[in-house]
Amino acid sequence: MSAPAPFGVRDEPMSRHTSLRVGGPADFFVRVASEDDLRGAVAVARQHQMPIFLLGGGTNLLVSDKGIRGVVIENAWSEASVEGRIVTASSGSPMAHVAAVAARAGLLGLEWMATVPGTIGGAVHGNAGAFGSETADAIVDAELMDPSGDTWVASKEDLGFAYRTSALQGTPIVVVRARVEAAVGDRETAVRRIKEIANERARKQPLAQPNTGSIFRNPPGDFAGRLVEAAGLKGRRVGGAMVSERHANFIVNTGDATASDVRELMRLVQREVKERSGIELVPEVELVGEWP
Ligand SMILES: Cc1cc2nc3c(=O)[nH]c(=O)nc-3n(C[C@H](O)[C@H](O)[C@H](O)COP(=O)(O)OP(=O)(O)OC[C@H]3O[C@@H](n4cnc5c(N)ncnc54)[C@H](O)[C@@H]3O)c2cc1C
Repeated sequence: MSAPAPFGVRDEPMSRHTSLRVGGPADFFVRVASEDDLRGAVAVARQHQMPIFLLGGGTNLLVSDKGIRGVVIENAWSEASVEGRIVTASSGSPMAHVAAVAARAGLLGLEWMATVPGTIGGAVHGNAGAFGSETADAIVDAELMDPSGDTWVASKEDLGFAYRTSALQGTPIVVVRARVEAAVGDRETAVRRIKEIANERARKQPLAQPNTGSIFRNPPGDFAGRLVEAAGLKGRRVGGAMVSERHANFIVNTGDATASDVRELMRLVQREVKERSGIELVPEVELVGEWP
């Protein structure tokens, strides 16, 4: 008989919690919906000396077929409020919620967040961005927590943002909440802008098939999607994974893709783009879990 779970559920398939719909089991899985839950889950993991993986929306992840050892904490703690030009959001707040709260308050400049899937915690971790803006432009500061439960406030500078990365990547530090800044404007303009960019996205991206957004970072002065398309790779498949016909920097799950299929297809794309254009594409998607 297996040992009882200290908390949460055992062997939860991560394919249920990632936008790409692939990924093997987490040893333990717990969903948190409040600050107390989040802090409590981190404390229990510490007592049991288990590594933590903080899951936001699961929209930038390739989780291995072998899954994740330790505890996956799914952050569903969503709370956002406005004071003046500042929106304070709990780390599990969906980006769309942050954008909507700002728009309702007549603030402008955060509309781009409405169409970036995932949570503000994930966006701070990876400096998510779209339509010419990125998290680093909006952030004022973030409250952080280390695995021992200590918390502190990090300024924008401390967060070490660069293109699709921050100083938090590769560390076990958890974003607890973030404060972002917007400009005073009006609600109608913000709502109109959100609709415009949502339409633009729906036109360009294969949103009907499971995917994980851009697979590769754009190399300096170019676009990963352009390079992949120029290499004739649209529609190329490995198992159930396929380079989208609609947007060449997306890999879609056609139904039964495994993480290995996606990984192999990524390698194939990297190889063929390198041969054709000499450019090494760097993954934007984060590979997590146990890989062979
Ligand atoms: C259709 C589609 C379109 C997309 N478009 C864009 C786009 O335009 N621009 C863009 O930048 N990205 C885009 N993405 C990728 C993705 O939405 C972003 O990277 C997003 O910020 C990931 O957030 P998440 O909450 O889903 O993080 P997850 O995928 O759950 O996790 C990503 C990383 O962040 C860490 N993390 C999550 N929450 C926290 C926290 N509270 N504290 C510390 N670390 C944390 C995780 O541990 C992991 O390392 C797109 C994805 C999809 C599916």
